[in-house]
Amino acid sequence: MNSFHSTITPEIASDVVAEMYKLNIPVTAKTYHVWFGHRVGWYPEMTLELDRAMTRGKAVNEAYCDDLYAKHIATDSRAAALDEAGNAARELIESVLSSVEGSSGATSEYHDVLHEMGERLGGTANASDVRVIVKGLVAQTAKMEGVTNELQQNLEQATTDITKLRQELVQLEHESLTDPLTGLNNRKALSRHFAACFESFHSCDELFCVLMLDVDHFKSFNDTYGHDVGDAVLRNVSTTLGDTGHPTAIPHRFGGEEFCVLASGCELDEAIALGDDIRQRISGRQLKIARTGKKINPITISVGVALVKKGDSDETLLQRADQALYLAKESGRNNVKCERDLAQKNAATT
Ligand code: GH3
Ligand code: MG
Ligand code: MG
Repeated sequence: MNSFHSTITPEIASDVVAEMYKLNIPVTAKTYHVWFGHRVGWYPEMTLELDRAMTRGKAVNEAYCDDLYAKHIATDSRAAALDEAGNAARELIESVLSSVEGSSGATSEYHDVLHEMGERLGGTANASDVRVIVKGLVAQTAKMEGVTNELQQNLEQATTDITKLRQELVQLEHESLTDPLTGLNNRKALSRHFAACFESFHSCDELFCVLMLDVDHFKSFNDTYGHDVGDAVLRNVSTTLGDTGHPTAIPHRFGGEEFCVLASGCELDEAIALGDDIRQRISGRQLKIARTGKKINPITISVGVALVKKGDSDETLLQRADQALYLAKESGRNNVKCERDLAQKNAATT
């Protein structure tokens, strides 16, 4: 390693080549060495001569550089420094390489060309025509800029498309879990919520209750006022279910005029109280037909409640809640019954 090593950096090599191109001086092994030496101050006498020539407006062309080389460098034992200059240029190429590494396949051609140039430059720094190599590098860089711009545009377009697609997917996912008439969760969402409740029940014994709710004599709303009013009744009930004030009560439309609420972290009595609160709020409303202002019959609901126990599944729990609901209907409607009431009834009849 010679004493000039510390002065050689890829940045300087790059600057030197850029300056030579600006002055229209072909980059050969000799001219490169002259300009590199000039830049880093290896040959003070040559620098003095070169600066003077430039100040006087002399044509600093390839022939003139060759003269300077013969006069100041060829005789100098330090000419081996050119090897270092060549290495510096190779380092430059490697640094460009690493910055494009990891890009898409479009850069692979550029990558290969740079590799090849780096090898040629490193292996033949003293003798070969560096100009050809650097010219190739410049051409490839310009081409690469075009490719990069195109990649950038494609990337921006792809980002926009992906963002839009993601929004559409979120929307679709939402729609697939929502009942269109009431905006409540649908049966598919219920399955998911059941799975989450059972997961917490099995992993940390967190209790949950199921409330099955059914609008009493709903058919009569359709029959008396028409299907639209029937729909409005369902929406009205849904609004109340969506606003229970209970933080872990998730309402679903089960189908028709039946609803299901999953109340997690909740004992049976708390769920019964929740069911009764919903029942009272619904029955306390007085709906009018918008067009005529005419009051419609009061809406009431019946509710059946069941608490999860070991060995339960969605089906067994729903079945117990449904049986409790049936008991509520049997008991005159507009009330809440639970599985305890079922057990009492069964005990009384046996
Ligand atoms: P019960 O008190 O025993 O529950 O009587 P009900 O009339 O509420 O029950 P029934 O099962 O006899 O009638 C339910 C009706 O709900 C029948 C069906 O046409 C109607 N229905 C189901 N889905 C909709 C809907 O989306 N909109 C409207 N308007 N009616 C619906
Ligand atoms: Mg029903
Ligand atoms: Mg009903």
